[in-house]
Amino acid sequence: TLPLSGKAALVTGGSRGIGAAVARRLAADGADVALTYVSAEGRAKEVAEDIRATGRRALAIQADSASATDPVEAVHRTAREFGRLDILVNNAGIFPNGPLADVTVAEIDRTLAIHVRAALLGAQAAAGHMTDGGRIVTIGSNLAERVPGPGITLYAASKSALSGLTRGLARDLGARGITANLVQPGSTDTEMNPADSGARADAQRALSALGRYGTPEGIAAIVAHLAGPDGSGTTGSVFTVDGGTNA
Ligand code: NDP
Repeated sequence: TLPLSGKAALVTGGSRGIGAAVARRLAADGADVALTYVSAEGRAKEVAEDIRATGRRALAIQADSASATDPVEAVHRTAREFGRLDILVNNAGIFPNGPLADVTVAEIDRTLAIHVRAALLGAQAAAGHMTDGGRIVTIGSNLAERVPGPGITLYAASKSALSGLTRGLARDLGARGITANLVQPGSTDTEMNPADSGARADAQRALSALGRYGTPEGIAAIVAHLAGPDGSGTTGSVFTVDGGTNA
């Protein structure tokens, strides 16, 4: 039997990039998987269709992580449709960047809503459905710990909130056998950060120890470890998976 046989997972922002790789990996490991998207309906449905073709159940849910209610409804709907919820992966994210002087109140509120509020509300709702063995994995960023250049103050601030979130959840939920961990990718080849974007990508490669981008599948592998039986003793931990950029 597969490590996640009989489990049900929800991955936010699963229509492309890291979230899609995580959704596919959790399904390959045996889980039924729901994934959210905000606008890429066709692509979310494609990921769900691919998962169904492997014999698992799958669900594509339109849920805006910037909303105060959608993230909670997505959790309840997943639990309702699959009859349980074991794994929540908070992955949906955006990359606000630019001169400090241009950062607006609306942009601050939206970024914090998507990265922090949605993760907290989602975890709160998910914890109500989870039993012993439940797993919460949040996708942060290596930029939460080192900021190598200008223009990303808001992004870095929003992602650094997730280490406190993760440690708090570990304490809140540990007595129930539910773990919470944070995975902080470095430069990873997705539409948010294409490895073939020229000078911008070259600069990121130069900062890494390995001299290359990571892959969505590489991030999905550590999420799968934390979500699976081998991850049962790991909680409140932060894993930076960045090719040595912060080394
Ligand atoms: P992509 O831009 O490739 O994909 C983003 C995903 O998040 C999409 O599925 C998108 O849905 C979804 N999403 C965006 N905004 C919302 C929203 N308001 N509500 C619901 N879903 C939303 O990004 P990545 O795969 O690169 O990034 C995934 C996570 O990894 C993010 O949290 C990001 O900050 C983090 N990360 C990425 C790094 C990188 O180098 N790529 C480095 C470090 C961290 P839709 O398709 O509908 O727009």
